[in-house]
Parts: sequence; C-alpha cells; structure tokens
Amino acid sequence: TWGAVPQGPPDPILGITEAFKADKDPRKINLGVGAYRDEHGKPYVLQTVKKAEEAVASQGVDKEYLPITGLAEFTARAALLAYGAESEPLTKGAVAITQSISGTGALRIGGEFLARHYPHSKVIYVPTPTWGNHIPLFRDSGLEVRHYRYFDKQNVALDFEGLKSDLLSAPEGAIVLLHACAHNPTGIDPTPEQWEALSHIVKEKKLFPFFDMAYQGFASGDIARDAFALRHFVAQGHQVALAQSFAKNMGLYGERTGAFSVTTADPEEKARVDSQLKIIIRPMYSNPPSHGARIASAILGDQALYTQWESEVKGMADRIISMREKIYNILTHDLKTPGEWGHIKTQIGMFSYTGLNPEQTQALAQKAHVYMTKDGRISMAGLNAGNVEYFAASVDAVVRG
Ligand code: PMP
Repeated sequence: TWGAVPQGPPDPILGITEAFKADKDPRKINLGVGAYRDEHGKPYVLQTVKKAEEAVASQGVDKEYLPITGLAEFTARAALLAYGAESEPLTKGAVAITQSISGTGALRIGGEFLARHYPHSKVIYVPTPTWGNHIPLFRDSGLEVRHYRYFDKQNVALDFEGLKSDLLSAPEGAIVLLHACAHNPTGIDPTPEQWEALSHIVKEKKLFPFFDMAYQGFASGDIARDAFALRHFVAQGHQVALAQSFAKNMGLYGERTGAFSVTTADPEEKARVDSQLKIIIRPMYSNPPSHGARIASAILGDQALYTQWESEVKGMADRIISMREKIYNILTHDLKTPGEWGHIKTQIGMFSYTGLNPEQTQALAQKAHVYMTKDGRISMAGLNAGNVEYFAASVDAVVRG
C-alpha cells in the first residue's frame, strides 16, 4: 500500500541532535536546538515552575478535559502578559483567545483561522530568513507564503530598506508575520523607531499583522520591553493576531503551553470569533493539555511567584548576554580571529547568526564536534563557562582554514 511513499528529508534541526548524540567525543557541543541550558549545559527547570507545580499538586487537581479553548484563567493571564493592562481591546473585552499546543499550535490555529475567515487576502509574508517551520505551517493552513527581505548578509544586520520596500509593494490587505522580539534565526530586531515606521506602512497598505511572540522576556530580560512592538501596534489601532509560547520564557517546552489571540472590534465580534476558533480546534485535537497551563497560570496569577519568575527570565537572558560578550572578547581580543564579530554581541535572544558558511559549519562538526545549523546559526544557550573557550578556539581554527 505504501510502496509509492517517498522517503522524506530529515528535519534540519532535529537531525543535528541525532548527529550530536552519536558523537562520542567528550568535548562535543550541541548548538543546534533552541532550548535553554544552565551553566553546566544541563536542561533547566525554573524554580518558579517547581513551586507552581507543587502548588498545583497540593490543590489536588483532577485529570478531566479542559474546555476546547483551554483553561480560561490561564488565557486571561497570558493575554494580560502580552497586551498589558492598559490595552484597549483587552479592557473592553474584545480579545478572542484560546489556549494552544505551545507556539506552533498557536500559529497553526491562527493560520487556519485567517485562511477561513480573513476576508482580504490569502497571502502571508514571512521574513527571509525565518523560523523554518513557519513556511510549511502556513502553507498547510491554506495560505500562500511569500517573503519579505529581513537580513542584510553583507553587514550581518537588519535590511530595513529591503523590509520596508517589500511591505510597500505587497498587495493591499496581505497578512504579514512579524517576530515580536528576538527574531529567530538572526537575533536581530527592529529598533522601536523602526517598529513605528513599520506600523505606518502596515496601516497605509492595510496589511494584517500577525505577531509570533515565542520569546517574551528572552530578548531583553524585560517582559514589557519585549512586548513593545505588539503593544505599539495595538495602541496605534491595528487589529492583530498573536501567537504566544511559554516554552522558552518558562522553560515549559514539552508541556506545550501557549495561546492564540485576535483583537476584535467589540465583545460581540469577539464572541463570534471565539466560536469559530472552537470549530477549528475541535476536529484537530479536541482540547489542550492541562498541566502546563495550570503551571503558567499559577505563576502569572501570584505576585510573589511572578516577581521571582521575572528575575529568573532575566537570569536566563543575562547568562546568554554574558556568553555573547565572552565569545566576542575571545575572538576579537584574545585570538584576533580574522573578520568582524561585533554582531555576536549586538544580536539578541536565544540565537546568533555567526556568519559562518556551510563549509565552516561542516568542518566544525567533523573536526571539533561542534554542531550547529548549516546557516551558521548557534543557540547561545548551549554555551557556558566550561565550553565557550573551546568553542571560540574551534571557530578561530575553521575561519583560518
Ligand atoms: N516561533 C518561533 C520564532 C520559534 O523560534 C519557536 C520555537 N523554536 C516557535 C514559534 C514555537 O515553539 P513551541 O511550539 O515550542 O512553542
């Protein structure tokens, strides 16, 4: 029956983990996957998550199904975290929201919703480059994926002119996917002034902004600051869609905790949108998992836990920032590695686009047991005081050939 099924290619990122696992060298480093690691290179469970888990367990919760759109207490708190207490659509009860299977599920519900109900276009623009999963995800949702320029390879910087010009020449009403903060894979975000200019273009061209916020808190260590783009667009009167993930900022990767929301005109419109979100979700997976949502809700809903969580997020962001400085200093000052490495220090979030080419990344894997994606993207979280010098020395060696 399945004789004609062709072999599909391996997932480019998860494939790296396979190669890493098979490597027996004790110096090996995995910089492929975007999951935070502590200073000893180990997976990290936040203290606040442990406390919230204990609090949830002590309440003696059951294992009943959640409603189709998830735990209402969680989604209300997630919306508040993203949009902020001042947000007009939120205060007037006009944000339609559902829990989702983390950020990926949120994007997929959003893609399906827009493909069915957004009246002006079936075209979605994503940046080049973007998180690899955006493209098949939106295509499978029934949208036509097009690209806007984002990365200036020459200068390892934002191609702001290219970005503006591509949005200006997009068809009126098209959807535009924006990374809310900590752009993956480049680690380069627009400045607040650039976001303001983008908001004008989006308005002028009547584009529909869909924010992917997978790293709130991870870019700057500050929850509100990382929500600047989203909150600015909403304050400027845009209606927006938003995908939220708690994988990174709460370290809830495998718990699959997220939310999808859309701002609407008023509570009556919101109710109609909510009803359609349920119609999309019910035949896909019926209802979401409860455990992660309970943990996230417990953290967001308790002042003491929330404050501690904010400092834990900042701790993760700061550790990454210190690694950026360390690599920069070793390459530039200690080893005097040929090339310009300032971007490693200025990029933000989990990832860095090193500028290493596919031959160099291959050499790093084969000769130095250092694994990263072919495009030279490294997950900063995989570096720590114990391996950063070996990493920098390995980079130096391949750059010198
Ligand atoms: N969007 C972006 C930009 C991401 O980097 C990721 C995670 N790598 C996601 C969405 C979704 O992740 P998850 O489904 O684990 O929340």
